[in-house]
Amino acid sequence: ATSPSRRYTITLLPGDGIGPEVISVAKNALQLAGSLEGIEFGFKEMPVGGAALDLTGVPLPEETLSAAKKSDAVLLGAIGGYKWDNNEKHLKPETGLLQLRAGLKVFANLRPASVLSQLVDASTLKKEVAEGVDLMVVRELTGGIYFGKPRGFGSNENGEEIGFNTEVYATYEIDRIARIAFETAQKRRGKLCSVDKANVLEASMLWRKRVMAIASEYPDVELSHMYVDNAAMQLVRNPKQFDTIVTNNIFGDILSDEASMITGSIGMLPSASLGEAGPGLFEPIHGSAPDIAGQDKANPLATVLSAAMLLKYGLGEEKAAQRIETAVLDTLNRGFRTGDIYSESEGNKLVGCKEMGKELVKSIDPVV
Ligand code: ATP
Ligand code: MG
Repeated sequence: ATSPSRRYTITLLPGDGIGPEVISVAKNALQLAGSLEGIEFGFKEMPVGGAALDLTGVPLPEETLSAAKKSDAVLLGAIGGYKWDNNEKHLKPETGLLQLRAGLKVFANLRPASVLSQLVDASTLKKEVAEGVDLMVVRELTGGIYFGKPRGFGSNENGEEIGFNTEVYATYEIDRIARIAFETAQKRRGKLCSVDKANVLEASMLWRKRVMAIASEYPDVELSHMYVDNAAMQLVRNPKQFDTIVTNNIFGDILSDEASMITGSIGMLPSASLGEAGPGLFEPIHGSAPDIAGQDKANPLATVLSAAMLLKYGLGEEKAAQRIETAVLDTLNRGFRTGDIYSESEGNKLVGCKEMGKELVKSIDPVV
């Protein structure tokens, strides 16, 4: 049964490059899947990243952050591009993303990587290795070396320029991400692998100690530990051994990009960033793809699947989320492929971003 009174405000942050193209498709999918479940959306579009730099001089205007904070969930496209790479003032568009994550206090980044049977040929790994991979990387998002102080530029004793950063983790930061990871593992296959570099780094030694302490609260989850270099290797050697992986900010950044290659396309992978309260931030894991921006070549499905995560993890609207996930599979089953996931095989049709969006809409509601 559907109740007609559910209304949510969604902040849309298209950003740069292919961001606006993929957000437009995801917005339509949200609107349609929502309407079929009696959900009404109010969308508010705001500038972020390079687009915001050009408009306002900063990558995250105050109005954008306050709109995001007031809404029920935030859907982001992508940030950055060649245009701002040599910014004189060192004001990088990407700073806007870091500020947004910090402003929304989203400390847990959930990145699923599953090899869909329809796309097993797109995997960079052998079919036997890739088939059936279904893992989730839980990445700590607001701490670690990307935020640690001191940081900056300076000079060493020889007067040579240096750049430096600091890896810092406090107990409470590790405990809260560990709990989210254990709970995620509980909802999946009950296996959690914590990835660190505890043989070398003090921040990792504390990480391992705290994860082991929190484990006592989750006796039903099977916990293992792995060094990050080994994890990077195991991910390509035998990715099926993993269910849920929990790791720090920088290792998670790298390992989830690696996991994305296993699945065959960075254009298929969504993410959810969650905090303790307040709106979640949902975004594809890919970047702004400036090489194909504005050419109607982008795969919108990562953003569409991010919208499904928004419904599921952000709003608790599982049925509407399911409609979108099913429609993505149906569109793939009907052979529609953007360039990044295209392989020459019977029934496959190469399409652009807009046409993919149209086919997706047909899959969500064949009547439209
Ligand atoms: P950024 O710094 O913003 O992360 P990047 O170039 O490092 O940019 P991506 O933007 O993710 O990384 O792009 C990496 C490659 O994957 C590019 O060749 C890009 O064209 C491709 N790519 C990324 N996203 C998509 C997508 N949605 N559809 C098709 N191709 C994509
Ligand atoms: Mg990148």
